[in-house]
Amino acid sequence: MNKLKSQIAVTYSFKTVRNQAIIKGALLILGIILMQACQNSPKHNTSQVQDEEHPNITKLKSQNAEFIPEIIKLNEKVYVAVGYDGSNASMVIGEQGVVIIDALRALGAAEKVAEEFRNITDKPVEALIYTHGHLDHTGGTSAFIGNNKDVKIIAREGFKDELEEHSPVEPILKQRNIRQFGRDLPAKDIINRGVAPGITPTDRAGKGYIAPNLTFQDSITLNLAGIDIELHAADGETNDELFVWIPDLKTLFTGDNYYKSFPNLYAIRGSQYRDVKSWGESIQKMSTYPVEYLVPGHTRPVSGKTLVHSNLKNYSTAILSVYQQTIDAMNKGYTLQQTVDSVRLADSLIEQPNLQEFYGSVPWGVRSIFLHYVGWFDGNPTNLYPLSSSQEAKHMVELAGGEEKMFHKLSQALEKSDYQWGLELADYLLKTDYEKVKVTKVKIALLRALAAEQINAPARNYYLSYSYELEKSLEKSAL
Ligand SMILES: [Zn+2]
Repeated sequence: MNKLKSQIAVTYSFKTVRNQAIIKGALLILGIILMQACQNSPKHNTSQVQDEEHPNITKLKSQNAEFIPEIIKLNEKVYVAVGYDGSNASMVIGEQGVVIIDALRALGAAEKVAEEFRNITDKPVEALIYTHGHLDHTGGTSAFIGNNKDVKIIAREGFKDELEEHSPVEPILKQRNIRQFGRDLPAKDIINRGVAPGITPTDRAGKGYIAPNLTFQDSITLNLAGIDIELHAADGETNDELFVWIPDLKTLFTGDNYYKSFPNLYAIRGSQYRDVKSWGESIQKMSTYPVEYLVPGHTRPVSGKTLVHSNLKNYSTAILSVYQQTIDAMNKGYTLQQTVDSVRLADSLIEQPNLQEFYGSVPWGVRSIFLHYVGWFDGNPTNLYPLSSSQEAKHMVELAGGEEKMFHKLSQALEKSDYQWGLELADYLLKTDYEKVKVTKVKIALLRALAAEQINAPARNYYLSYSYELEKSLEKSAL
């Protein structure tokens, strides 16, 4: 600041100035000096830090390179369409025809890809394989095969059995789905969906779906369009998942058991248990094949035997390590939260580019495994008959010395970037009769602050979507 004072003094020493221009110039210099002084003050530094992009957001944005639309020629006979929709569709060219693997979601997007494929070869589609039943891989089939009833459409037995349209809680699943994928977010908030672009085509989504006409149980080898193709059941993200292995081309299609992100062992939109152990073992099995070309269900394909092998290896190690650590912690009698707190990936795995938590999240996987094996009771008798949420909130507010004091702590939590603690305090207050609008506004700020430093796209999308819902509810209550 001393330097600043002397600079100001120098500026004011222009006593002999005789014209307006010089005075203006001096004032300008003074303005610049004052601006610099403000920028150097600690208060301004804090807001500057908040405005800067968090490194996690920069990383999440870098994942967008995985979704740039492109028809990738992977080898002489395999083409992969990336970025035309949320997932990938591939074409394998045989002697007398082609085989399509996965069909995207939107019929409009599938038609574009089908046209691109036809520009490469006009051989007819002889078969189409679904790697699993999720709509983002099955909605555009008719674009590839038209009305041709002779095309083999192949999937596993039990195909689509577990999907949400069969769920009695479908309405809430739909709402959570909208939040996880950020479907209603304004464009300025959208980065991506972890393993898919932030916005995906909606032109006739799902309208091209055609049911399989050939299913198998464990494994099957078929000669399709003159190519020997092995299909192997591989429980993982879904229980109808399979992988496709083409020995002659050394190419393996993983379905959604593999993509460039830590796997989504549990989907926060609400999903049934994804068999984590089987998922890890499915990838382990893939890693025993001499794969040179790996085609994931999402994100760009990977080439090169060594890279493919190490990617599959670290993926299965990560999944099985999360699984085993969870089981071990549970057997020690740890509660759910203690189990979550105790599980972490080895440093060597945390650093792997294909294991960043863009889509899946380690603690979510741990919770899912824990609940799968023992249900809701975490073993601590405190939790057999817990206080109702309003009783608990009442006691916590008392403990804090009253609502005003708790609100003060809440505001402090926001200021100190202790966002999660802030959310918990806000939730206590929201269960009381204390000023709902005031608390909700802080909760909105906390959710947005968390979103601004999240590497995980579903979490970021959920925080933001929920914050807009709260904002809308405030607007409604003000009317
Ligand atoms: Zn998918």
